[in-house]
Amino acid sequence: MRLEGKVALITGSSRGIGAATAIRMAEEGADIIINYPFAAEEENAAAVREKIINLGRQAHIIEADIGKFTEAERLIGEALEKFGKIDILVNNAGITRDNLLLRMKEEEWDAVINVNLKGVFNCTKAVLRPMMKQKAGKIINVASVVGIMGNAGQTNYSASKAGVIGFTKSLAKEVASRGITANAVAPGFIESQMTEVLPENVKEAMLAAIPLKKFGKQEDVANLICFLASAEADYINGQVINVDGGMLM
Ligand code: NAP
Repeated sequence: MRLEGKVALITGSSRGIGAATAIRMAEEGADIIINYPFAAEEENAAAVREKIINLGRQAHIIEADIGKFTEAERLIGEALEKFGKIDILVNNAGITRDNLLLRMKEEEWDAVINVNLKGVFNCTKAVLRPMMKQKAGKIINVASVVGIMGNAGQTNYSASKAGVIGFTKSLAKEVASRGITANAVAPGFIESQMTEVLPENVKEAMLAAIPLKKFGKQEDVANLICFLASAEADYINGQVINVDGGMLM
């Protein structure tokens, strides 16, 4: 029970890596705020809540588009109202709008930067003051190996994730003296709805580049995030940790 008594807010936790992280953290004793955007399938979030409640923990769902500053403020405000504190913020929500730069539309660029990068700014800014007051907090941002190595067809996505890495390191320097740590995880190819839509030839090329010769599971990322959120990781700050089967090294 590494997270007993803690409250964790995980953005984009209605499915995928966010949902796996929410459940993993509940297994470790945390109460959870589940978030997903308006107009998404609410039964996904409800299913995650049920699993957490069955584990004997509390779970509360808050709909909010984290790409909007005021929505993120409301999300954090409602979470604080519900549980009185936020110990852990996992900035996980992310989207892709893949296209070669030559064909990329302005909307595709804006949408990805808005959710993946500005969303991290929005939620982190809103949670910072309360975390500073409690002189403790763990912020974990979900980046990607693509933010380090680049990927054709993903200039928007890799720019957003590289931005998240720079953001994390600067934040880690700013807030460490207040008892808050900030780290990033960089998943490689993880089986989820985000990756299942990729063409077979792209998946085969990815697999060939992974020394472990298998794709990652959502739980592989959830385990790392959970560790970074625990007291065992108190002296880890400003790091980017890959979880990619050795794809990038
Ligand atoms: P996913 O299965 O597509 O799930 C994304 C989650 O984010 C969903 O719950 C989605 O809600 C939510 N979301 C999207 N836009 C949002 C917004 N504006 N506000 C709040 N929530 C929003 O993706 P995933 O594979 O689990 O990815 C999770 C994170 O890991 C992302 O940051 C992604 O970039 C990163 N990552 C993934 C991989 C991979 O291989 N899968 C690799 C590297 C990094 P809806 O139900 O509405 O869509």
